[in-house]
Amino acid sequence: MRVLIGGGSGFVGRELTRLLRDKGHEVTVISRQPGPGKITWGELESHGLPPCEGAVNLAGENLMNPLRWWNESYKKDLFSSRIDTTKSLAQAIAASPSPPHSWVLVSAVACYKPSMTAEYTEDSEWTQFDILSKLLKEWEASAALPENATKTTKQVVIRAGVVLGRDGGAMKQMLLPFWLGLGGTLGSGRQPFPWIHVSDMAGIIVHALESPSDTPSPSQQVFNGVAPALNTNLEFTKELGRALRRPTIFPVPGFVMNALMGAERAVVLMQGQKVIPKRTQEAGFEYKYPDLTSALKEIVGS
Ligand code: NDP
Repeated sequence: MRVLIGGGSGFVGRELTRLLRDKGHEVTVISRQPGPGKITWGELESHGLPPCEGAVNLAGENLMNPLRWWNESYKKDLFSSRIDTTKSLAQAIAASPSPPHSWVLVSAVACYKPSMTAEYTEDSEWTQFDILSKLLKEWEASAALPENATKTTKQVVIRAGVVLGRDGGAMKQMLLPFWLGLGGTLGSGRQPFPWIHVSDMAGIIVHALESPSDTPSPSQQVFNGVAPALNTNLEFTKELGRALRRPTIFPVPGFVMNALMGAERAVVLMQGQKVIPKRTQEAGFEYKYPDLTSALKEIVGS
């Protein structure tokens, strides 16, 4: 299968590319920068979709970029980098004479309202309640194909939790303070911490790409991209400390996180949702790292 990956040069994209190539598939990345094995977003818009059987979008300005202050220009980039790239790909798919059989968008669990008690599956209704859920609404809507295109292309949305892996994402920023023994819970630590190992994230995307497109549906099929284990921030902190053999005695108070990151962004870490990957498991996906102990052992031990 030939797979086109928007934002495929990033953390999840590199893992996905490795997995697809290991399985004998061909990958072309869409990037802002030209290079071998890549096309640019400008080329996609001017030349249309290159021949492919699967398309994925992973492009987006990093929400946890520690070097970017939480201000209007950053928020604008978070929206446009996701919505404009997703729209470009959806439009190219709809206009293609030989469209791919699967079109996968990786979005996020931030659409579900943080709660200590509610449990969310792919069937849970949600409406926007803050800036991140507004972003999610517009982002997922921008992936929707016009009705005639849905007869040939299966549309999938995978809502990812915090993706854990050694080479990027949140872990990259957390490992140093934890190594130095400066790690600790965020706020009370009782908030849910929906997470997934990067290898399973890539696996769910490949599962969606490879599954035969059963009955084409006008609506998007949603899968929660989280591990089946429901953990809190405290459990994650303790498990990471254990894996690194370091103490985790310095809790980070909420007001510090809010001051450093901006309260609207800190919500991702200071609050959380219990997200159940019901449909992901029903679809037969088998996790390599279903629990924190095995996931963190792989990340820290490698
Ligand atoms: P990365 O931060 O690694 O970014 C992926 C790619 O997006 C980059 O390699 C870059 O490609 C492209 N990109 C970055 N900024 C911009 C921009 N301003 N405009 C256009 N393209 C840009 O992302 P991840 O791999 O970590 O995540 C993939 C997707 O999954 C993202 O959409 C993210 O929001 C979502 N997600 C990730 C989570 C995580 O924990 N990592 C959690 C939940 C959702 P290039 O430089 O080649 O153009």
